[in-house]
Formats: sequence, structure tokens, C-alpha cells
Amino acid sequence: MPYLPPMRLLVLFILLIAVACTAPEATPVSETTPPVPAEYALVIHGGAGTILPDKITPEKEAELRERLNAALDAGETVLKNGGTSTEAVVAAIQLMEDSPLFNAGVGAVYTHDFTHELDASIMEGSDQSAGAVAGVRTIKSPIAAALAVLKDSPHVMLSGAGAETFAEQQGLEMVPNTHFNTAHRRKSLENLLEKNDKRIGLTQAESDYIFGTVGCVALDKRGNITAGTSTGGMTNKRYGRIGDSPVIGAGTYADNATCGVSSTGHGEYFIRYAVAYDIAARMAYGGASLAEAADAIVMEKLVAKAGSGGIIALDKYGNVAMPFNTPGMYRGYAKPGERYVGMYREEPSTAASGN
Ligand code: ASP
Repeated sequence: MPYLPPMRLLVLFILLIAVACTAPEATPVSETTPPVPAEYALVIHGGAGTILPDKITPEKEAELRERLNAALDAGETVLKNGGTSTEAVVAAIQLMEDSPLFNAGVGAVYTHDFTHELDASIMEGSDQSAGAVAGVRTIKSPIAAALAVLKDSPHVMLSGAGAETFAEQQGLEMVPNTHFNTAHRRKSLENLLEKNDKRIGLTQAESDYIFGTVGCVALDKRGNITAGTSTGGMTNKRYGRIGDSPVIGAGTYADNATCGVSSTGHGEYFIRYAVAYDIAARMAYGGASLAEAADAIVMEKLVAKAGSGGIIALDKYGNVAMPFNTPGMYRGYAKPGERYVGMYREEPSTAASGN
């Protein structure tokens, strides 16, 4: 470098600083190119838990994947044809309620007293209208009853016998409680009772518990988001225990401005930490992306507090998040030209959805 007198060096230095300060910063991509929303999107779960390849036979795995695909088909057909996100959520959830593979509807787990008490909820993100039923024993499709509460009652949550009377008056299909009897769920209760295990659901380190609750979140062509969840609760529950699934803000939440969420897992944790609402709030108040908000809640609230489970969520652009802290989660999503179904941890999940 040629010799420069100190004064010139100083002037050169000041000039360089000035240029650096006025040079335009790289503009974040999101500011110049707003994300193009998916025409529609749908995400489902069929529960989280100790879902490992060596614990599931190939036949059972094929059955599960087939049913998850059928649920996606049901919801996607509605959305493709211009139906509402609410119709899509109900269609997808009813496909899973009608299968003994999942802990919802006909596959509901047993209470401590060898009966079944089911919970469900649904929420529309356009106006935060919501409906839920809790502890119901004779309603064939709890998600249909939750929707009836949303549409045809001035309330948000109905429970027990009152919810059943309401459902009957609405013309919903009623069944005896034995309609929900299945040999495999009975065996799960007997196993817990044999161990004299008083807990309802255990941490993943302690048990083979599978939270088989089902849920769905959909974004329709009008930009409306709906979220819904339906469950038999947790095996061996007693004293009228209600989980997170019918609790708006814990098991289910939807807001068109941010996202829709459905949870599965040890419900007490999801209620304490208002998991579904917290994801939407992180986006609304903290500016987090869907993936950031969903991952943070699973890491901070579930892992840190030793709770287990997972969530599915989608935002107004159709981005999908499906984090869980259990070995596996039955899950899937559909968007125009895209389809994903997964069960195990190692299968690509949110990465495939553009998050
Ligand atoms: N979250 C549900 C409950 O606690 C259980 C599940 O997800 O399977 O009732």
C-alpha cells in the first residue's frame, strides 16, 4: 500500500464509514415478497406417544396410514370444492372418530369405571366462535355435537347429561355407551389397573401411553381457519376428569389473523400452559413465525415441564407445523399438489411443509 500522510488516512477512513452507513441493508425477503398463501391447507393428527416402528406391525401401520390418508382425502375434497374450513375439519375428524384405531369416537379409551367419556371442541378463526362438549357418553360424534354448540347455542361448552340432551334435541345420532367398547382399549385399562397404577397417562419414560386423540386444522379458499379436536380422554381417568381437548385455548384454538392449533398429549399440561392459545399469542404479540411459536411451546412448556404430546397448527398462508416431544405422532397434511403422512420421529415433517 502506498504511503499516505496521517491526515489523508483519517479522511479516507471517515469516507469509508460514511459509505458503509448509507449502503442499503439487505431487505428481509418477507418485506419485499409477502408469502403467497396456499389456496387451501389441511393438517391432521391422530395422537402422539410411544409410536415406534418395532411396536407396530406392518399391517397395522398400513391401516393407520390408510386411515390418515382417508381423513386427509375427506377434508381436502371439501376444501378443493370450495367448502368451508369448518366442514373440512368435521369431515376429517369424523373419519377418525369412526375408526377404532384412534382414541376418539368409536375407539375411545376406558375410564377407571370401564365406561367411556368423550370430549371435543371446534373453533372458527373468523370470529372466534367456539363450541365444545365434555364428558359425554352417548353422542356418537362428539365433534358434531361441538359444532352444534357453536352454531345452535349461546354457549361455548356443555358437559355431561346436559350436553347429551342438547345433542339429542339437535337431532344428532345417540348411541349406548357400549358402542365405544373395544377389546384393545379394555386391555389398556386392565394393564393399568393390574399395576395398581393410579395415574392417568404417564410420562413417555414411564409408559407406552399413546395419546390417540384426533384433531384437524383447515384453511379454506376464503382464508378462514378452523381447528377441532376430539378424544376419549386418558385411560383410567376418573371423577369426571376433563382434559384439554374441549378447552378452548388449551386443546383447540383458531384465529384467522395468526393460526389454528389442535393439541394431543397429557391434557393437564396443555391446560396449565394454555398451549394452543400461547402459540397464537406468540405470533400476534411477539411476531414469531408459526414454526418458531409452535417449536418454542413444545420445548419450553412440554419438554421443560416433563409433559408429553404434540400439536398441529397452520397459519393464514397455509404453513404447517407439527412438533411433538414423544417418540412419534400420527400426523399428515394436504395442500394443492402436496401430501404428507407420518408416524415416526425420523420421517421428515415440518421441513417438508416449507417452515
Ligand atoms: N389430550 C387428551 C387428554 O388429555 C389425551 C390425548 O391427547 O390422547 O384428554
